[in-house]
Order: sequence, then C-alpha cells, then structure tokens
Amino acid sequence: MSELYEKLIFDLSSDGHAGISLPHLDVPEIEISDIIPPEFLRKSPPVMPSVSEPDVMRHFVALSRKNHHIDKGFYPLGSCTMKYNPKVNENLAGLREFVDAHPLFPENAVQGTLSLLYELKDLLCEIAGMDSVTLQPAAGAHGEFTALLMIRAYHKKNKRNPNKIILPDSAHGTNPASVVMAGYEVVQIKSNDRGLVDINRLSDHCDDDLAAFMLTNPNTLGLFESEIQKIAHLVHDAGGLLYMDGANLNALLGLARPGDMGFDVVHFNMHKTFSTPHGGGGPGAGALGVKSNLEPFLPVPVVSRKKDRRGDHLYFLDYKRPDTIGRVHSFYGNVANLIRAYCYIKNLGPEGLKEVSETAIVNASYLREKLKDMFELPYDGETMHEFVLSGSRYKARGIKTLDIAKRILDFGIHAPTVYFPLIVSEALMIEPTETESKASLDNFVEVMKTIIGEIESDPEKVKSAPHDTPVSRLDEAMAAREIDICYNE
Ligand SMILES: *Cc1c(COP(=O)(O)O)cnc(C)c1O
Repeated sequence: MSELYEKLIFDLSSDGHAGISLPHLDVPEIEISDIIPPEFLRKSPPVMPSVSEPDVMRHFVALSRKNHHIDKGFYPLGSCTMKYNPKVNENLAGLREFVDAHPLFPENAVQGTLSLLYELKDLLCEIAGMDSVTLQPAAGAHGEFTALLMIRAYHKKNKRNPNKIILPDSAHGTNPASVVMAGYEVVQIKSNDRGLVDINRLSDHCDDDLAAFMLTNPNTLGLFESEIQKIAHLVHDAGGLLYMDGANLNALLGLARPGDMGFDVVHFNMHKTFSTPHGGGGPGAGALGVKSNLEPFLPVPVVSRKKDRRGDHLYFLDYKRPDTIGRVHSFYGNVANLIRAYCYIKNLGPEGLKEVSETAIVNASYLREKLKDMFELPYDGETMHEFVLSGSRYKARGIKTLDIAKRILDFGIHAPTVYFPLIVSEALMIEPTETESKASLDNFVEVMKTIIGEIESDPEKVKSAPHDTPVSRLDEAMAAREIDICYNE
C-alpha cells in the first residue's frame, strides 16, 4: 500500500476535504451559546482532520495491515487460543433487538435475551457436566476470583475457615494472582518429571487447611492429567474443593467433562473457546460452572425462570438468594460475548463441538511431531490442543527463544507464546487450533526450518529480527514502563 496512507491522518488532512456532504438545513440557525451554558463550551474548535471518505478508508486499512491479526495470518499462541471465529456470530450479536436493549428495561421487555442466556447456562452445564452456571464474570481471571469468593463462602457455611489454595507450578499466572486477591495463601507444588501433578507432593498438602486445589486440565503443557480421579479423591477427602481452570476448553468439548472428572467448579473463557475473538480489544466473558454444593453462593443476579399464570415460562433476574456472594458485575454480564457463545454452540451442535476438539488435538499433534526434532520436547507425553517445546539447545549457541519468536514475525506469522509455562526453559508454547488447514500448518513448519537454518548460516539475522515489520525490535520493558517517553519520541 502506498506510503501516502501510512501518514498520520492529520498529515493527510487538507482544507475543504470532507467525507460526507450534508444537505443544507431547512430550520433556522441558532447560536450554540443560547442553549449551552458558557462553562461547557469549548474555547476553541476541536482539531479535526479534513479527509475524503476514500482517504479515511485507506488510512485505516493501512493501519489494520500494520498489526498482525487472525484475519491476516496464522496465530499459534499457546494457552490463549487465537482461533478464527465465525463472522456470522458478530452479525447475530449485533442484531438491533439485542444491541438496543437497555440494561434497565423491565424484564418483560427482554424476555428473548433472558431466555437465550438461560438456555446458554443449560448448554454450558451440559458441555462441562455441571449443575449451574453464572454468566456474570467479565474474564477468566474474574471467574477465578468469583469462584474463590464462593469457595470461601462455602467453607464458612460449613463452619470452616481453611486458608490455602494449592496450585501446580505449571499454572497460568492469573491463578496465583486471583488466590492472593481473594485473601488466600498460595501453595505451589512442583510437577513430576512427566509434567503432571505429583500425587505424593499433593497429598502432603491435603490437610485441614486446604480450601481448594486449582488445576488446568489438560494442563498448560497440553497434557491430560490422567490421575484426575485420584486427585479429586485426595482433595475432597481433606475437605477441599477442586477448581478447574477451563479457559481453554477446546481440548475437551464433547470428549470429556470436568464435572465427571470430579471438579466442583470450572470457568470458561467465551473469548477463547466460544467464538468471541480473543484479543480483539473488547471485553471478555468468564462464565463459571458449579456443582450443586456451590450453587447457593453464585453471584447475583442469576438468570432464572418460573411459570406464569397461563403456564408459560417467564424469565427473570433472581436477586433473592440469601447465601450469594453478591454482585461481581453490573446487570447481565458482557452479553454480546454470551450471545456469540450461544450462536457458536447452537450452530455447531454436539457433533460439531466434538469435531472442534478432535481437530484441535490432531492439528497440535501434527505440528508437535513435525517440530519436536528441531527443538526439544521436554515432556513428551501425548499432548492435546497445545504443546511446549524448548529452545535451550539454541540458547547455548547464543540464540534465545525470544530471537526465534521475533524472526517468525518476518514471515507474516504471529509468534507462539514464549517463556510460559515457567517450568520449561526457553519455552515455545504452540497452539494451532482447529481452524488451520494442513497447508497453513506445513507453511509454519517450513518457516521454522528456515529459521533453524539461519541459526547456522546467519545467526545475526535471527538475533536482530524482526526486519520486515512496521517497527523493529522494541525495548519491551521500557515500552511498558515509560509509555509517555515512547509516545513522545
Ligand atoms: C487466558 C487464561 C486465563 C485467564 O483468562 P483471562 O480472560 O485472560 O483473564 C486463565 N487460565 C488460562 C489457562 C488461560 O489460558
């Protein structure tokens, strides 16, 4: 695209240009100061660029091409599931009937939205094997926090006050953060040499003071915790609850259910598994499924229904719940995400959802086999929707995983997650997702081969990457900490 449109929109501006021309008004003109008090009036007019409609389009299309995004290329970001999401769900969530519904409308005016939310709860219960669902939390981390408050309320109701939450050392960073925010103490246990929960270490900590064990399954190495039932028994026997971090449920849909494995509570990320584009800049939704033991403590309001006098269903927001932990979000939660999730689930149906997970697993396994000899696969069990390689052999030769990740960008591919989980040195965490074709996966393998070749032939090229992106390598710490300086320069 021409450099002309890469300029700031203010530099494109020239007097007299306009995007649209409005007809002359046929009502009398009045002075704005006659209707708006002077203290609210601007002292000088706002600075606005004068640009024609095509110039505006080209400017913003040029901007959109500077960033990498899922509509542009492969995005194998492990743990954070950047998959292509059906655009039809955007249209459905954008229907006027949903968008124009004010959160303060009376319940009888939003029966459609409420019935959709009610049905979504049922669908999520069925998918995860749970008894009830709250749609309130605004993100995965918020779901974790909400669940921990419910876990505290549950123990309190049972006249107990245990203080510790156990996490494996492969846990996502939001887990310990949520634990601390909820006022609990984190106990981290080291994984065994297969990358799974070490049952002996776990049982050492299963005592009176155990409030819950938070686990991701498949874990962040992509490995299924095969001893999950034993784990559930240990935790429950100590009086604790079992929490599942289900942010990425896309390995399990239609194949296995957290509820059947013994989990008491699970959060789902609508913005990873169920259609809302993750990282799209908008809000997320971290619904929470619970077993009946935790149901009384759900945050309010709970979308409920009753029969009216004619025997028809009447949907309503239930606030009268004596044991509730209270509110965690305003009104209904982030409804647009919930509508997309509903459409996604209904559109695919049980067979389609199962195929999502099967394909995610096949795609990840294919890449793992193609790439494992180029790197190291420190935990080489059968992985599911993602897998974690180590670049430590290249580190020894002066090339960090970060360098490889930056070089990947030059090929129009987003880098995988790097340096997570923490238990793998020089980690590259790769999740292709179910929406990639074999050609796209093969292309990624070829790119990785090329980069490995460059480490031999031209290591400086890798160390100084990226070369072909709009900006070269950034000082990321400074960019985060001194945002003003970066901006002004
Ligand atoms: C993304 C993620 C979370 C946190 O979800 P947010 O919506 O980003 O708060 C928690 N656990 C795992 C495993 C994740 O991948």
